[in-house]
Amino acid sequence: MKVGIVGLGLIGGSLGMDLRACGHEVWGYSQRASTVGKAIVKGAVDVACPNWADLAPAEVIFLCTPIGLLVPTAQQLIPHLNAGTVLTDVGSVKASIVETLEPLWPNFVGGHPMAGTAKSGIEAAFMGLFKGNPYVLTPSDRTPPSALAQVETLVTELGADLFHCAPADHDRAVAWISHLPVMTSASLIAACLGEADPQVRALAQRLASSGFRDTSRVGGGNPELGVMMAQFNRSALLSALQAYRGVLDGVIDHVEQGDWAGLESLLRQTQQARSDYLREPPV
Ligand code: NAP
Repeated sequence: MKVGIVGLGLIGGSLGMDLRACGHEVWGYSQRASTVGKAIVKGAVDVACPNWADLAPAEVIFLCTPIGLLVPTAQQLIPHLNAGTVLTDVGSVKASIVETLEPLWPNFVGGHPMAGTAKSGIEAAFMGLFKGNPYVLTPSDRTPPSALAQVETLVTELGADLFHCAPADHDRAVAWISHLPVMTSASLIAACLGEADPQVRALAQRLASSGFRDTSRVGGGNPELGVMMAQFNRSALLSALQAYRGVLDGVIDHVEQGDWAGLESLLRQTQQARSDYLREPPV
């Protein structure tokens, strides 16, 4: 299949590498010509597309630009597409994107691979990023079954675990497990920087080990992506943040009052519940 990729960064570049390994021909467009050149050297793209019209032969096109640019990118691309071309996106937020793009392109299928790293750009792309990780598709009653089937086939070939849900349900779910963790992890790092004694702060930095590495990882990621999560999933994220603040206030109360039984009860509950959110890591 001829597959187009617009935006050759971490996600677009990684998709290109995997899809090429599956035998597809990848046609790549990115903002900078130098990025497309790097993508070809890296094995993520077969054919460089300097202009939108060059993507016309692609049967399925993945939009992989930053969230805030997905809709403007699609608007620029759509006039150059053949009627049968399937358009899908990889944006971390779905409702606003699907609501805008579905009426603009009937063969649109919203998507979100639940995979990433703290790095960005084509240099960060690697093969196997999606394998064993969830990949959510958010079709609606209006999505043509043939368009959905083509995207499903490609996602399955990536070795990803396919999920379907409504765009609004996706946004509420990822607010809990992706967007809230980014904000709380970033808040953790910011709070540590609040240590007034420079010697203690430096000591903490030297002593930080696996626990801090785990809990601070997503707070140390791409700032633009974090801001866009908040902008584009604002109401679901706000609900989750307020719930989190309520739980944190409860923890403060337990500690202030020396209510160790109450604290232990909470920690027992979270110890048991954690596994419900964890999958076996990809082999
Ligand atoms: P990224 O590494 O920063 O890559 C984005 C790429 O888009 C850049 O390399 C840039 O290429 C290109 N670009 C920017 N503006 C463009 C334009 N106007 N036209 C064409 N290309 C343009 O970001 P990413 O992490 O891959 O994220 C891309 C998308 O994936 C976002 O929508 C995000 O929500 C989604 N996503 C990210 C993750 C994650 O963990 N990172 C996970 C799942 C989904 P140039 O080098 O040419 O400027």
